[in-house]
This record gives sequence, C-alpha cells and structure tokens, in this order.
Amino acid sequence: MAGKTGAIAAFLLVIVLFVAAVLLWSETGQMAGKNVNATEECSDSAVIVIDPGHGGFDGGASASDGTAEKDINLQISMQLKKVMEEYPVKVIMTRQEDVALNPSEGNIRSMKRQDLQQRRRIIDEVQPDLAVSIHLNNYKADASVYGAQVFYPKGEQKRTDMERCEQTSKNFAEAVQKSLEINISDGRERTAMEKNDILIFENPTCPMILVECGFLSNQNELNKLKMAEYQRKLAYAIWEGIDEILCLEKGEKMKIIDSANR
Ligand SMILES: [Zn+2]
Repeated sequence: MAGKTGAIAAFLLVIVLFVAAVLLWSETGQMAGKNVNATEECSDSAVIVIDPGHGGFDGGASASDGTAEKDINLQISMQLKKVMEEYPVKVIMTRQEDVALNPSEGNIRSMKRQDLQQRRRIIDEVQPDLAVSIHLNNYKADASVYGAQVFYPKGEQKRTDMERCEQTSKNFAEAVQKSLEINISDGRERTAMEKNDILIFENPTCPMILVECGFLSNQNELNKLKMAEYQRKLAYAIWEGIDEILCLEKGEKMKIIDSANR
C-alpha cells in the first residue's frame, strides 16, 4: 500500500515538474520573441522631442464652444509620449502642463516669441532624431474643411552623423502624413507640405515636423478631437509614421557598417 502511494506521489511530482518546465519554456520563448520584435529594435535608442503647441497665456486657436487648442495639443502629446514609451525611445517634452515657456514681461507678441525661442532652444540642445510639434488647425471661413496635415521646414535638415544616418524632416513628414491617412481614414488625401513662416522651423538643426491634427472649426472633427480614444488613435498613427523612418534609418546604418567591414 505504502509503495503504491509512493509511486503515485512520484508520478504526480513528475507531472508537476513537467508542467512547470513547459510554462517556463513558453515564458522564455515569449520574451525571446519580444526581443526580436522588429519595431522595438528599429527604434532602439532614438530620441524624440514632443512639443505640445501653445500653453499658459497662449491658448492657440479656439473653437466655437470655447475649447482651447493648447489643451487638446497637450492631451494628444501626452498620448504620444505614452505610445512612444512602450518602445525604447527617449521622449523629451517641451511642456507637460498648461504653461508657457520662459514667460517674460512685455506684450503678448514678445511673450509668444520668448516661448517659441525657448522651445527651439530645447530642441537645439537635445538634438533629437526628430522633434514633433503638435497643433490644431482652425479655418472659420469654411467650417467644412477638416483633416490632419503634416508640415516640415524648408531645406534639407539631415542628421549626418554616422550614428544616426541621414533622414530629413520631409521623410518623417511624408511618412506621418501617409500613416494618418491610413490609420485615421478621414477620407482626406493630403500631402505633407513645406512651411517657412513659423519661428520653430527657422534654420532647423535637426529633423522637425509639425502635425496639425485636425480643424477646431469643423464640428464633427472638433467632437472627435475632444475624445481620448481619438487622441490615442492620432498618437498611434503619428508614432507609426515616425517609427517607419527610424526603421529605414537603422537599415541604412547597418548597410554602412556592413560596407565598412568589407
Ligand atoms: Zn497652434
């Protein structure tokens, strides 16, 4: 009887050990799978500056219901930060609260200039792989106009160091525009455009884009822009475009290393 119980106990122990081994194996397998995830590898060690437009005294554009651009800009930017932090990307925000940067005494015009100059100072100091400024559009003359559009500064802003290879603002802008078209599918076919009349784009020292995420003047789009779920969707779409270019960058880098070794 005792022998039989012992045999059963030994048999159960073998089963328990087998189940534990299988669980451990599948867990490690998953982790290994996660490590070879292409997107994570591609964005490895990238540095991105997110600049939520306006803030504090500067509300930016405002909708008919009083919704201020600065608030939605910040909400979308925080969602974008959250998305990027799922990857090994270092994110630097120009603001995380409802504040203006470098507030100074003086008239509104000079205060705005100070604020924008401070944002540029941060970008120039950090020298990120990309700086992305988040804004909303407003076109009261025609409330039917809607859709997201991406802008980039004039000229070729390249990162020419061997570490990061050459990618231009235009590359990023076009990829983000395409991703917005696919993922937001608002029926709008727009192309990324050059923009020269804003301070933040003056003589850029690294790739930069500005995303106008939608129109406050369009009622339907305004309703969507206020929803966290839509803001998250925008954030994912923006990230996907950025990541596509970071991937290309990685590919180029590997080619250079490869040819150097030959
Ligand atoms: Zn704006």
